[in-house]
Amino acid sequence: MKSTQAIRCKCGAFEAALLYPKRGTRAVCYCRDCQAFAHFLGLPDGMLDGAGGTDIVAVSPRTVQFVRGVENLACMSLSRNGTLRWYTSCCHTPVGNTPRDTRLSHLGLVHTCMDFSGVSMDDSFGPVRMYVNGKSATGKPGRSSRVGFFAAILRYLGAVAWSRLSGGYRVNPFFTSSGRPRVEPRVLSHGERASLVDVVRAQGHGDALPQSPQTPDVHHPG
Ligand SMILES: [Zn+2]
Ligand SMILES: [Zn+2]
Repeated sequence: MKSTQAIRCKCGAFEAALLYPKRGTRAVCYCRDCQAFAHFLGLPDGMLDGAGGTDIVAVSPRTVQFVRGVENLACMSLSRNGTLRWYTSCCHTPVGNTPRDTRLSHLGLVHTCMDFSGVSMDDSFGPVRMYVNGKSATGKPGRSSRVGFFAAILRYLGAVAWSRLSGGYRVNPFFTSSGRPRVEPRVLSHGERASLVDVVRAQGHGDALPQSPQTPDVHHPG
């Protein structure tokens, strides 16, 4: 595994670097909000897998350094208090998701800005450790191994807790020093959100699938 992972939008205008990529925890999230984000970007095929899952790497935001084109960074949210979803305005490449409260030091980097130039996500980050929100999958969701899942979640929660205790959460390039998002989020209207939800619903029959214990629901910050 490399010591730095490049982050880049499709057109190349925006670039960043992820330090310590092997500290990241890989997860696939099937939740409807992640699917709605893909449809908002007009990118369902480039972002979602065959079951509507988004391959995400959970990292500490402070391990991301912007290299160039940060003026292309844009932010949206599906609701007033929802997860902040970062993407590029130049070519609509999803970058990642962050909670609004920076004390929860979390960034879910979306694979689309990292799996280019023939390097696979497996090579860069190892295998997927967690499959979550499988009941909203539009196909058969992946299954986490129980041991792998709990080991990954403990490691992840430990990192979040340590950031909080050590004050490391204060270093977050997606937010200003006063804790405001560096770009004002575009919050979708009720109507905009409703039409995205309709598109997501039309994609699959997620509600009819039994929920697997291996794909638990998580409150999103993924
Ligand atoms: Zn771009
Ligand atoms: Zn999700």
